[in-house]
Amino acid sequence: MKIEKARELGFCIGVRRALNIIEGTASGDTKIVTLGPIVHNKTVVARLKSLGVGVVDNVDDIKGGVIAVSSHGVSPTIHEKIQSRGAKVIDTTCPIVRSAQKAAQRLARAGFGVIIFGEESHPEVRGLLGWAGKNAIASMDVDTMPVGAIPKRIGILAQTTQSQGEFTNFVNKLTGKLLPQVQEIRVINTLCKETRKRQSAAEELAETSELMIVVGGHNSANTRRLAEVCAVIVETHHIENADEIDAKWLRRKKKIGVTAGASTPDEAIEQVIRRIESMQQV
Ligand code: SF4
Repeated sequence: MKIEKARELGFCIGVRRALNIIEGTASGDTKIVTLGPIVHNKTVVARLKSLGVGVVDNVDDIKGGVIAVSSHGVSPTIHEKIQSRGAKVIDTTCPIVRSAQKAAQRLARAGFGVIIFGEESHPEVRGLLGWAGKNAIASMDVDTMPVGAIPKRIGILAQTTQSQGEFTNFVNKLTGKLLPQVQEIRVINTLCKETRKRQSAAEELAETSELMIVVGGHNSANTRRLAEVCAVIVETHHIENADEIDAKWLRRKKKIGVTAGASTPDEAIEQVIRRIESMQQV
């Protein structure tokens, strides 16, 4: 059995940057608390906990101190709330997410009604909505999108980790639906290249594999998307850690591909590969 890793997988530059900032600050005397998990990965959160980094889920529970905002970013309102609670902010928002926030803000200030292609409940999208003006909406599906009074000018952007193909389909469908009623539709490409690189590397590997193992948090949007992309091509399993591998999946497989989401640490990927190798020897 051959095990091959995708040529792009695991931590992206945004997550590495966020962790470097937090670990660098935590290694001094400063006690840090993150607002929500810093990335959607339990192994990473546990490692940060061992360095004394805590997590607070609700901004109302902040009582001063040093609060780190995750790479997903937050809305301006949340920024203000953190500061109003006497806390110092360490902002680890990924620069690519920050660009999307600025694009949303520019559109809103110019009078566009902003539509975000993304999961409304995802932290990045909640943050983007805060920058995109009070009439902004987030949706993954044009057919079920709640469109009220349609502004004359519409701006469309995407949650950074969405797939290019799905964003294109969304834009085409939405444009077809709205064009008769609006004067201007502006599309801003806020997709992250790191995500795209991981998706195309995963697709490429899936094409030549009999099984794909996708490693990453079950609540990690970009990991779930990697699994969806691979599942269209070949049998695919999304696991968070090596213990979740079922020996039955490996039976009679000659080539297994492994990829991992942008918030998956190298150790988790290596543990999965070692576990597959050890199961192969049984
Ligand atoms: S996936 Fe892209 S946008 Fe998200 S944190 Fe990583 S580099 Fe930034």
